[in-house]
Amino acid sequence: MEAIKLIDEIREQVNVLKQQGKTVGFVPTMGALHDGHLSLIRLALEKVDAVVVSIYVNPEQFGPDEDFDEYPRQLSSDLEICEDEGVDLVFAPSDQMMYPEEKQYIRIEVDELKDHMDGASRPGFYEGIMLVVNKLFNIIEPDVAVFGQKDIQQVRILQRMVKEMNHGIELVMGPIRRANDGLALSSRNAYLNDEERLKAPALFRSLIYVKKQIEDGVDTPKLLLEHQVSELEAKGFKIDYFNVFTFADMKPAEKLTSGNKYIIAGAVYLGDTRLIDNLIIEF
Ligand code: AMP
Repeated sequence: MEAIKLIDEIREQVNVLKQQGKTVGFVPTMGALHDGHLSLIRLALEKVDAVVVSIYVNPEQFGPDEDFDEYPRQLSSDLEICEDEGVDLVFAPSDQMMYPEEKQYIRIEVDELKDHMDGASRPGFYEGIMLVVNKLFNIIEPDVAVFGQKDIQQVRILQRMVKEMNHGIELVMGPIRRANDGLALSSRNAYLNDEERLKAPALFRSLIYVKKQIEDGVDTPKLLLEHQVSELEAKGFKIDYFNVFTFADMKPAEKLTSGNKYIIAGAVYLGDTRLIDNLIIEF
């Protein structure tokens, strides 16, 4: 299987599929594909006739001190994986193809939904994502696009974007795929050394513990969360955030009220590696 690098060519190839009467699903990724990505591809294949995967490490969503240069790139093995999974087309553009102009004059701003979680810790992150996903949606024009719950804030923001920008694309959220010990799969897990890899699932265990306590009736999780943060810190994690957020508007939830949906989410550092994970809970 070959990667298509040119916008005109991917458009042409997607049109061929559409002219054959096929519905088109789209799974955007940054490559270094793992089982989490594959689960999204499989979910897409259940819903549509043909699936397009993009592999593009988008410079616009990385801050100046972040890992753009180190981010794993392994296009040839990713292509083999896509072929084995029955992916129809892979779009892997260059930076020059995606951002040919020296300066980007048009950007989409994200409002309150990015005030907490990763949006608070990574300035410009969601604007960079909105920019690239908009471009990709306009290039592929899929019927369905699949994103992972692993990046739950991204999904919530993209749901708004699709609605407010009238993309007319059905967004589907796939569940988080985990290693046997509970660690959420991530291309960034490759950065972990052996000792860190052994410690890493503690984040998931803390989220599970909080979920259980909430299910058992804790409706003001502040102390519970503080305790879990101390435990994680004692194990050597540096905490970016660890909190319960409302599903509706992604704001910290001090008091949980019945009939509402919440997200228990954490972002932590082990050494230089940033790990994120979350669980959704209906209270
Ligand atoms: P990325 O390549 O990290 O940009 O991720 C591409 C897509 O895969 C995003 O929609 C992610 O939310 C999703 N994804 C990443 N990790 C997982 C996972 N462990 N399980 C399910 N989906 C995932």
